[in-house]
Amino acid sequence: MTGDLLVRGARAWPTAERLDVRAKGGRIVELGPDLAPAGEEVLDAGGRALIPGLVDVHVHFRDPGLAHKEGWETGSAGALFGGVTAVVEVQNNPPLSTSRELLVERLEHVEARSRVDFGCLANLLPDSLGELQAMAPLTPAFKCFLGGSTGLGGQTDPETLRTLFAAAARAGRMIVAHCEDELLLREGKRTHPGATAAEHHLVRSTEAEVRSIETSIALAEETGAELHVFHISTARGVELVREARARGLPISASTAPHYVLLTCEDAGRLGNRMKVNPSIKTPADAAGVIAGLADHAVDAIGTDHAPHPVEDKDRAYAHAPSGMPSVDLLWPLTHELVLRGALDPDTALASVTSRAADSLHLPGKGRIETGFDADLVLFDPDEARRVVGAELPSRSKWSAYEGMELRGFPQVVVRRGTVAFRDGAFEGGDAGGRPLRLNPPGPPAFPSGGA
Ligand SMILES: [Zn+2]
Repeated sequence: MTGDLLVRGARAWPTAERLDVRAKGGRIVELGPDLAPAGEEVLDAGGRALIPGLVDVHVHFRDPGLAHKEGWETGSAGALFGGVTAVVEVQNNPPLSTSRELLVERLEHVEARSRVDFGCLANLLPDSLGELQAMAPLTPAFKCFLGGSTGLGGQTDPETLRTLFAAAARAGRMIVAHCEDELLLREGKRTHPGATAAEHHLVRSTEAEVRSIETSIALAEETGAELHVFHISTARGVELVREARARGLPISASTAPHYVLLTCEDAGRLGNRMKVNPSIKTPADAAGVIAGLADHAVDAIGTDHAPHPVEDKDRAYAHAPSGMPSVDLLWPLTHELVLRGALDPDTALASVTSRAADSLHLPGKGRIETGFDADLVLFDPDEARRVVGAELPSRSKWSAYEGMELRGFPQVVVRRGTVAFRDGAFEGGDAGGRPLRLNPPGPPAFPSGGA
């Protein structure tokens, strides 16, 4: 039967303990140091390191609408390459998901194409207000842009924002927010004419993120909404989330690899290839975000995989679109944080598995435990490879990490008990991804799950 598999002889990273995993019908049914085959397919792990399939809480696969920049076939192949078996997708280009009908169409479109399991975020906009209740059972969260990015403007009117937050709270789904203050972004543009990539962090400033996080936390507190701050990039922003959580508010946060592995000082080397929104800030900010991951003020690392063709990125600063690909590298990049001593192995792993799933209340994902989906990754911690953007499966074929030596490249990826990627090749036919299971809509459930 599909989804029946016995993985034998793996080691439960970061320990050296042997762990066998039995999957039946796609879910984990038994764990042990030495399980006997019971007629199912056997995968010999050969002593390789075993971790749960990663949950990327934030990707843009741009399809439908901008499929020339990415697509579910290529984006989800990139995800498997990076050890990711589930993604949460943000549509910021039309057609936006502003009604149940449009959201259902999008889910069907994606299911026909995706190799990984997926959740599609519904857009929180004045246009979608009347549809939030109807969309809530089909989406993990509502996406709100306080600052504009890639074709979608930010919300500037405080009353509109209040209405949106209150409506999301009534519909019983959390808000995931792009926190940059739209008016401060416009001011940054005005006061930095002729900026280059080296000034992107001044154009899209620390203050813009900090003020927007303040606004969002205040609105969440006032309206009873649950809030997840996406792609946090500043030490002060992390501090605000930490304080809010200490007060018991249902606030969570995620960052992206580029906010902890790169800083604005890399602009001379990378130019517009590191132009992303929010901007990549200072070394002190990167340290503050890492400290947030370490003490659990920040829950997760999601890629914000936001691909553009390299010709577009290599235009002059003012005309180069924001965003970079990285879903193909999520586990090697996270593993790099361990090798650098920035995070302990358990925290690093949890930030892309269990805590990532918990932060968006995604059941059945991110843990190697009975009852969970049999999403598994095998890798050899000693195998090092250099990043070659042209060889990555996602569409844009360039990487801000070009030439970097990384370890942790997945060798086998199992999606719900079926091998989907092995030794560089994709298996199991096209697509195969399913919509993520979702809890029923309801009031904020926080704190969410274990550490
Ligand atoms: Zn994004």
